Amino acid sequence: MKERNNTQNLQRNGAKRCAICDGKFGLIRHYSWRTALCSKKCVDRFKSREEADRRWLIRFHVARNTVAAGLTGFRSEEAAQ
Ligand SMILES: [Zn+2]
Repeated sequence: MKERNNTQNLQRNGAKRCAICDGKFGLIRHYSWRTALCSKKCVDRFKSREEADRRWLIRFHVARNTVAAGLTGFRSEEAAQ
């Protein structure tokens, strides 16, 4: 039972490899949003990726709203005819 708990703790403590470059960790681990990363460089890459994801999401929402607005406009034009 104790061994099983230890294994769970190890797994909960995170991945054994860097989430960005998949490299093994050195002496120091860096953390960003509870994600273990091997170096400051990977932290920067991780953060810029997060930023890109957020921008993509915003663009997605804007695009969806534009499509919805376009459809509404199309329907009202159709109804007018
Ligand atoms: Zn890395």
